[in-house]
Amino acid sequence: MKVWEVTCLSGIVPSGLPGLRYALNPYRGCQTSCRYCYAPAVLRDSRHWGAYVEVKRNIPMVLAREVKKAVPGVVGIGTVTDGYQAIEGRYKVTRYCLEVLLRHEWPISIQTKSSLVLRDLDLITQFAHKDVGVTITTMDEAMRRALEPYASPAKKRLETLRKLNEAGVETWAFIGPMLPLATEHRLESLISGIADAGTKKILVDRLRLKEGTWTMLEPSLRGLAEDLPQVYEKALQGSYFNEMQRVILELASRHGIAAEPAF
Ligand code: SF4
Repeated sequence: MKVWEVTCLSGIVPSGLPGLRYALNPYRGCQTSCRYCYAPAVLRDSRHWGAYVEVKRNIPMVLAREVKKAVPGVVGIGTVTDGYQAIEGRYKVTRYCLEVLLRHEWPISIQTKSSLVLRDLDLITQFAHKDVGVTITTMDEAMRRALEPYASPAKKRLETLRKLNEAGVETWAFIGPMLPLATEHRLESLISGIADAGTKKILVDRLRLKEGTWTMLEPSLRGLAEDLPQVYEKALQGSYFNEMQRVILELASRHGIAAEPAF
């Protein structure tokens, strides 16, 4: 994977995502390399996703200027990248951005698949308004490695939720995209794990096949089922998502958790 530093011109951009006023992405590209990621389609980036990361090294400085002028609002950290992908351990760009936002008392909402977020608990806990969402797509570790090769294992993500909750941070779990042959695996233990971690909210999402997504996804799943394209075609028709959503909502309610579609 190639990593290089770039100079960015903007830190926060308006966001149309629910509950967010702005989006902040300290990196362009994502080392986590999820095979179903549709961020490249959103960014209109045709380069090999997962093969490069541009580090916006100056983004904390740009952000520091922006927050002095912009109307305060919830900043979603990591909408088309993971702010806590492995190289954040070295660059700390997300951490420096948190320091800026904390100084100006802006609210934050973080979404990640990495336990590295715990490194910044000292800062996160100081925000008056903060929440952290942890995405967990499957409890099947072999599938996790195939689909999200550089993300933390599901057990570690559940542990991350637990530690965040113990520190008094509001959390949510994001189950998405729902994938045939992956999400169904030990689904009840996933929901009970989320409940045991102390998280009270689950958001669910369907598979969103944008241009190029199937090309990234299909090679990882090859060999799992002879009729793979048909399995996924069915999943995309909506009936799979609706059924899975029904099951998750029912399981969540049994465990005292509120669950709803993410979008
Ligand atoms: S962590 Fe998010 S942005 Fe990164 S590859 Fe996975 S889905 Fe895409």
